[in-house]
Amino acid sequence: MIAPDFLVFNTNGLYCRAGDFYLDPQQPVQRAVISHAHADHAVSGNQQVWCTRPTAAFMEHRYKKNAASTFHIKSYREQFTINGVIIYFLPAGHILGSAQIMLQHNGIRYLYTGDFKLQPDDTCEPAAFEPADVLITETTFADPQTSHPDVAQEMQKLNQHSHNILLGAYSLGKSQRLVSLLNTHCPQRQVLVHHSILPLHKLYESLGYPPGQYQPYNRKLMKEPGRGYVYLVPPVTFNSYFKAKSVMRIFASGWEHLQKQNDMALYLSDHADWNDILKAITEVSPKEVWTLHGDGRFLQQHFNSRLTIKIL
Ligand SMILES: [Zn+2]
Ligand SMILES: [Zn+2]
Repeated sequence: MIAPDFLVFNTNGLYCRAGDFYLDPQQPVQRAVISHAHADHAVSGNQQVWCTRPTAAFMEHRYKKNAASTFHIKSYREQFTINGVIIYFLPAGHILGSAQIMLQHNGIRYLYTGDFKLQPDDTCEPAAFEPADVLITETTFADPQTSHPDVAQEMQKLNQHSHNILLGAYSLGKSQRLVSLLNTHCPQRQVLVHHSILPLHKLYESLGYPPGQYQPYNRKLMKEPGRGYVYLVPPVTFNSYFKAKSVMRIFASGWEHLQKQNDMALYLSDHADWNDILKAITEVSPKEVWTLHGDGRFLQQHFNSRLTIKIL
């Protein structure tokens, strides 16, 4: 029988009572199973952390000695047990090392997606699903109005001009994906990378996922007008260059509100859109769907009474 309180939110985050551990806790805890290294899923100061090797590497880069007391590094599909709950990771396709977390208890399978996407991405392992009784999914873009555009077409918009581009993006995941996409779709453009992003590129390289050709940012290069450079910067730097002249300001994101006030929109998301969430539900074929991170109401309306959708 599905335990309705198998996963519950408390002040520290999403808690598994049967195994006395947390999934992506928001506060440091004794036992944390962490889906991926984005800061809203991976906090510092946990005692024991179970995660993939890239997730541990990114957390150590960001948090240094406070990353965790002990890391238990697991490959995808490698089973482990915490207090009787059998656990393994499946690729989530979101960033390098991102994992869905399969939890089995009393013969019931609960699959927590973490953040996931289905769009192809050369800089991480493609998402893989397995059947489960309960699917616990993010609903960041779970709205029938949301459909991410074709990636190649979006990237080719950058070829319509030869201006230098200031390209804002999140440092971990999006930046590496962008280098790979720029290499593929805008081969005549040279990619310059902000110094704060370079160590993450190096980590991707050392973990076997080189993002592609790029060079460290050099002020002189960027001052040459019309050479078609793309200068990849994190959001803080992007926002501080608000009055930059003679460059096009573009921010790569799936969010419409982050496209406003820029010189061109570039829709590139690392989250599933509406159709991708429906596809994931079909593949997992759950008896119940529990939703978090976003709005589960559209799924409730869509499935009506054909499938139990519970908003956590
Ligand atoms: Zn994420
Ligand atoms: Zn997230």
